[in-house]
Order: sequence, then C-alpha cells, then structure tokens
Amino acid sequence: MERDRTLRAEDLGSVGLVGPARFEEIRRVAQEFAVALTADMAALIDPAHPADPIAAQFVPSGAELEIAREERTDPIGDERWAPVPGIVHRYPDRVLLKPTVLCPVYCRFCFRREVVGKQPAMLDRPALDRAFDYIRQRPEVWEVIVSGGDPFVLAPRRLGEVVRRLDHIPHVAVIRFHTRVPVVDPRRVKPPLIQALAAEKAVYVVLHANHPRELTTQAREAITRLSRAGIPLLSQTVLLRGVNDDASVLEALFRGLVALRVKPYYLHHADLARGTAHFRTGIRAGQRLVRALRGRVSGLCQPTYVLDIPGGYGKVPITPCAVSAEAETGKWNVEDGTGMQHAYPADPEG
Ligand code: SF4
Repeated sequence: MERDRTLRAEDLGSVGLVGPARFEEIRRVAQEFAVALTADMAALIDPAHPADPIAAQFVPSGAELEIAREERTDPIGDERWAPVPGIVHRYPDRVLLKPTVLCPVYCRFCFRREVVGKQPAMLDRPALDRAFDYIRQRPEVWEVIVSGGDPFVLAPRRLGEVVRRLDHIPHVAVIRFHTRVPVVDPRRVKPPLIQALAAEKAVYVVLHANHPRELTTQAREAITRLSRAGIPLLSQTVLLRGVNDDASVLEALFRGLVALRVKPYYLHHADLARGTAHFRTGIRAGQRLVRALRGRVSGLCQPTYVLDIPGGYGKVPITPCAVSAEAETGKWNVEDGTGMQHAYPADPEG
C-alpha cells in the first residue's frame, strides 16, 4: 500500500479491510458521513481481528445508521456560539477558529461528523478575514484554539499565515492547535509545517490519540520533531467502548504519550453525535476507569475526564471525587488509589 495514499469508502474492499458482504453497508454509511483513513492507519489494522480497535475508529459500520433518540446533529452546541463562519465563541477568554473542515481521517465517533469532510472545505478569503476581524475586535480573547477539521492538513504556507495573523493581534497570548495529523498522518510533520508554527506568542499543539497502537514509530518521530522544535505538547483522548475502555489500554497510551513529552490533557466522555451509541460507555464506567488509573499511574499520566454538556453549555470535569464530607460533623472521608477510606479533619471554623 502506498504510504501517502488516503483510502476512501470505495477502496476498503480492494485493500482487504472489508469483505464484499459489507460493501452495501459501507456505501450507505458513506452517503451519510465522510469516510477516509490514511495508509498508515490502514496498515495498523489487523483484518483478521473482528474487533480491532484501529478498525473500529476508522472503518465505517452499519451501526452508524442507528440513530439513538438522545443523539444530536450538533452535540456540543457549536452553532449556538458561532457569531461568524469559522468562529465558535463559547467561553469569554477564548475562541475556536476553524479554517478547514477537512481531516486526514474521519473518526467514526466524531463529534463534528455532520460538518467534517463536507463542502465548503475551507473558509474562503473574505470569511477568514471576517473571522480574524472578530478576534481582533475582542480584547478579552486571550487564547485562540485552531481546530476544524484538522488545521494541520492546511498547506504550510496557509498554516503559517494563520499563525502570523494571530501572532500580530496584541491581546492574543496563546495559539493552540488541535490535530490528529502527527498520529494518523505523521509524514506531514515536516520542517515546513514546523516552521509555519513559529511565533512570538506561545504556540501549543494538542494531539488526538486513543490507543497505544497509534503511537507507531512514524508517529513517535513526528511527535519528537515537534517537541524538539520547542512546542509544548498535550493530548486528548476520547473514551470509546471497545477501543480504550480498559485501564491497561489507557495506562499504556498515557505512559507512551508522557514518555514522548506529551502531557495527557483531556479524556473526553464520548459526545451524543448521531450514530455513535455503539462507542459510548456510561459515565459510571468512565469514572471506574479513571479511579483505576489513579492507583496505577502518576499524576503526569492522568488527564482530566470531561463531558461537554449537550447543547453548548461547556466542558466540565466528571472525574470521580475522592472526598466526601460527613453531614453532621463536617469531617472528610478520603478515598485512596486502592479504594481504602481515610479520615481527614473538618474544615477550620470561618
Ligand atoms: S480528527 Fe477530530 S475532527 Fe477530524 S474526524 Fe477525527 S474527531 Fe472529527
């Protein structure tokens, strides 16, 4: 398989990822949601493994056509906070800038699956100008999160222009990129892309990775190229049934990331995107996993378990609480990493 090739729905049969019995199912899913995976990710899939965690993330399944009642077309309420095209302004001090809706892969659980991979793929020049004007006119915007789609699919020249324009806005202190490219399409992380990220302002890169097998030799090299350029790296992971809802899988992933100088930042509870019920765990199951991790790995390896409240009300931590107060005495009970309870004194008066 040529390594720079992107596979579409119609290619999955010819590379042996799905058999003829599933062609019709794949065709129907592809009419509804974008389908693509990189040759790197396709090569990681074991076609003989019926529940391969990499295949589950990228190869469409008929289960996506089953829409649960609670699922939404805009699960985290982006539209509600979109004052101009390409901008989501949900929190006062930061905005999301989405210059493209293209991705190198289309994750089957994507929270923006109704928009990614669709047309128009890029913000055109006037829309991009309006988006920058919006940021420029709001001195309260301290941080700009460049997302999408995946901003690292932009040509380095265009990416560099985004960085330069944000760098010139005096009140923007932090430029944060959210990307899956270093993991799923690591060959794109070449010197021109890294040079495009150079700025006076702080530039952070947040990688999306869900399974330790995604940290291939090529991905590790790409991540190392970014960290050697002095770019602080964080990661986000989506908790996915059948992919990583296992403490030892999450442990291996987070240890792998930290060893690559990537700080696990968020573990997302899967959003209520249409056709993704087969990926969602319960919150209680997620909390059990987080509790299990607490006993196994250092704080450096522990992201914050978060839920984006459906409807656009923002992200909140849903990490299990290790302390509870006795109602009568105010004394605290504290749970350690093994589940043992310990007493801690009540709060001082006043
Ligand atoms: S890379 Fe991110 S935005 Fe793109 S399909 Fe995957 S989850 Fe969605």
